[in-house]
Amino acid sequence: MPRPLSATIHTPALANNLAIARKYAPKSKIWAVVKANAYGHGLARAFPGLRATDGFGLLDLEEAAKLRELGWAGPILLLEGFFRPTDIDVIDRYSLTTAVHCDEQLRMLEMARLSKPVNIQLKMNSGMNRLGYTPERFRAAWERARACQGIGQITLMTHFSDADSERGIAHQLEAFERGAEGIAGARSLSNSAAVMWHPSAHFDWVRPGIMLYGASPSGVTADIAGTGLKPAMTLSSELIAVQTVQPGQSIGYGSTYRAGQAMRIGVVACGYADGYPRVAPEGTPVIVDGVMTKLVGRVSMDMLTVDLTPCQNAGIGSRVELWGTNLPIDDVARSCGTIGYELMCAIAQRVPVRAE
Ligand SMILES: *Cc1c(COP(=O)(O)O)cnc(C)c1O
Repeated sequence: MPRPLSATIHTPALANNLAIARKYAPKSKIWAVVKANAYGHGLARAFPGLRATDGFGLLDLEEAAKLRELGWAGPILLLEGFFRPTDIDVIDRYSLTTAVHCDEQLRMLEMARLSKPVNIQLKMNSGMNRLGYTPERFRAAWERARACQGIGQITLMTHFSDADSERGIAHQLEAFERGAEGIAGARSLSNSAAVMWHPSAHFDWVRPGIMLYGASPSGVTADIAGTGLKPAMTLSSELIAVQTVQPGQSIGYGSTYRAGQAMRIGVVACGYADGYPRVAPEGTPVIVDGVMTKLVGRVSMDMLTVDLTPCQNAGIGSRVELWGTNLPIDDVARSCGTIGYELMCAIAQRVPVRAE
């Protein structure tokens, strides 16, 4: 028998979340962002739930090729662009759209031999200071791109740093409008947070990622309460042992937890080698046998331990939900000092994943 740990991908939840993204931005076309192997869900497994999108956004040329093999004939956007002249052959072969964020990329496109022009998203650095042309240099870049034989449609793109937080997007929207003033072409600005919380930034194309997987752009579950977004991944396992410890006895490596009274401890088949964070502290929520309880002791490579005090009926074989339909991934992430994005992307290769 394989270990009882598995991740389940909920295809109807993906479809539901995509429909919700459309409701938020009804006039925009959608790039469903499936980078990082569809945020850990698996590109091939996520594809059926997201195929009603207008296009897919990702990073790896290999993932783009895989989407074509899955039968996707629509637009595919390389969110980070390309790195070497040989990448352009792949872009040409698979008819990919690519971000262009620097002169080196424009130069490679000018030198390229192509079977047809490449559609690009010309990226402006409106304040994130990661990729793109400053507003001051944007027009010159656009003119150079327009003069390039190998370039077809040019969409204007930028990315927000604070669409999920207090600072907001006004300063970047202002910079974008300034740099893009008088330039024709479609606009592509909004990540999930802007799709949900900044309708003024929707324009022609939006680029939701995390919301499609049913987690919060801010990492705070309460921020997506009432939106109808549903978790697209459940990580579940079983109890493989139960220990009764006496007052003063410790649990696991480093003896980080000491029982205050006699208590039952459940041992779960899931550890940091499965992608469950080792930094998860005591108190991190876990559901055992349908009852909310907490992690105690240090997460080890293949196992973790939970307090069975509230789970009177739990025993070997009881179902454990690490995160998913009943336990928002952001609640687990928050306890670990991170966001749902990181946990879902970190699901280890050895975890069996199935779609339903
Ligand atoms: C990852 C990414 C997105 C999606 O961001 P979410 O916060 O997951 O919605 C959108 N645009 C770009 C350029 C990205 O890299």
